[in-house]
Amino acid sequence: MYIDAHIHLYDAEYKEIINDIIEEAFNHGIKYIVSVSEDSVTAIKNLGLSKLNRNILIGLGVHPWTAIYNPGDIDKTVEIILEYIDEIVCIGEVGLDKKYEDSIRMWDKQVDTFNKMISLALEYKKPLNIHSRRAARDVLHILNKRDVDQAYFHWYTDDLETLKNIIQHGYYIGFTPSITYSKRVKKLAYKTPLENILTETDGPVRYYGPLKDEITKPSHVTLIINEIARIKDMDPEYVAREVYNNFIRFYFKK
Ligand SMILES: [Zn+2]
Repeated sequence: MYIDAHIHLYDAEYKEIINDIIEEAFNHGIKYIVSVSEDSVTAIKNLGLSKLNRNILIGLGVHPWTAIYNPGDIDKTVEIILEYIDEIVCIGEVGLDKKYEDSIRMWDKQVDTFNKMISLALEYKKPLNIHSRRAARDVLHILNKRDVDQAYFHWYTDDLETLKNIIQHGYYIGFTPSITYSKRVKKLAYKTPLENILTETDGPVRYYGPLKDEITKPSHVTLIINEIARIKDMDPEYVAREVYNNFIRFYFKK
């Protein structure tokens, strides 16, 4: 049994093929797919998708890029989250981003929005599905300050020192198909205990390596499991089972 802990199923890339993708995923043993959203428009789309199959779980949240480029949408998204809070398994995709110049310029808005998302997560006891590109240390600092105990650092790519601190807090770390070709990501996986790992595709993001020129699908998480097993010299079935258990612990713990 496999899991895709972070994907954007509402993306235009999937529009024509959504039913095929879902069917293929479940045929490949994918048990759960978590589709996260970014703003009010994708929140509504995600709510529609969650009706397709009860194993498609959804998260709603304000993405840091929405805080940067479309701050006028924040209040509307929060209203939707509150209205549908019982239908979501997490608050996400939320977090902080330091990659672009705009993300530095809008830093205060990002932090303010992330704190709003954390307040929702704490009040309604939902885990956080977090974007932390080049800002994982800042994210971790805020999580600690706010006493958050359920957080998932999706597609983690920051430094090893911060990784160690994230693990110490019992948070989860996400690996994508980039693990099949990125030396840096392989090293991060080597350093992350299996009990802290979740697998995800972050589709429609595309990858290199064995997935070059392919549309990213939930069924591709099997590649991640096999690579983690290789890196850690473990049985792939064992790795898949443990990651599945991590997923249940993270998303279904109350
Ligand atoms: Zn994402």
